[in-house]
Amino acid sequence: MTWRADVLTIFPTMFPGPLGESLAGKSLEAGTWSIKATDIRDFGLGRHRSVDDTPFGGGAGMVMRPDVLDAAIASVADERPLVVLTPRGVPLTQKRVAELSAGPGVILLCGRFEGIDQRVIEARNAEEISVGDYVLSGGEIAALVLLDAAVRLLPGVMGAAASADEESFATNLLEYPHYTRPAVWADRAVPETLTSGNHQAIAAWRHAAAADITKNRRPDLYNQYVASGAQAP
Ligand code: SAH
Repeated sequence: MTWRADVLTIFPTMFPGPLGESLAGKSLEAGTWSIKATDIRDFGLGRHRSVDDTPFGGGAGMVMRPDVLDAAIASVADERPLVVLTPRGVPLTQKRVAELSAGPGVILLCGRFEGIDQRVIEARNAEEISVGDYVLSGGEIAALVLLDAAVRLLPGVMGAAASADEESFATNLLEYPHYTRPAVWADRAVPETLTSGNHQAIAAWRHAAAADITKNRRPDLYNQYVASGAQAP
C-alpha cells in the first residue's frame, strides 16, 4: 500500500524537491509512497487569489486566513493525520516520525508570513509540530524534514533496514562514532577494539561510546535513557 503525503503550500513547486533524489526518490518512483502538493492559492479570494490578511490586534506581518486554509484542507482531508508545521508546535521526535510512517500517510499544512489563524488549527484538530527552536521563513522546509524522516522508515526504502534499530534516538542514545579505512589516517588510529574482530567487545565499546557522547551532549536524552531502565555502562 502506498504511503500518501499531501502538502498544502503556496509554493507547490518546492515538492518533491530534494525528496525526488536518492532513496526517497527511487521509492517515490517505485510507488512506495506518493506526494501531492496543493497550491493554497487555488482557494484564495478575489482576483489576486489572496490567502492572508492583517492580524487582529495589530502588529507586523500578515496571517493566513482560516476560511482559505479550511477549503484547501477540505480538498484533501481523509483519515490521515493533519500536521501544521509551526515553531510553536511540539518538537518532532523519532518516535512520532515512526508512528506517522507506520500509518496511511500525512497531510501537511505549511505556514508562511507571521503564521496561521489559530481557529482553523483548532477546528481541524490539527497537530502542531516544530522541527526545532529556530524560525524558518516557511513551513515547506520543515515539511520536507518530516517527510524525509518518515519516508526512510517505510518498508523497503533503506538498504539495510536493520540499521534503523541502532540509530541515534532509537534507545534515547545518540549513535556511537563511525570509522572506515584507512585504519590509520593523519596519525590518527581507529579505536583498537573496532579492529579486534571481537564482536562482543565491539558491541560493548559502541554502547559505552554512545552513552558517553549522549551524557556529554544531551543530558536530557541521557536522563530519559537512564529512566527507561536500560543499563548504563
Ligand atoms: N511568527 C512566527 C514565525 C512565522 S515563520 C513565530 O514567531 O512563531 C513562518 C512559517 O514558517 C510558520 O507559520 C511555520 O509554518 C514555518 N516555520 C517556521 N519555523 C518553523 C519551525 N521551527 N518548525 C516548523 N515550522 C516552522
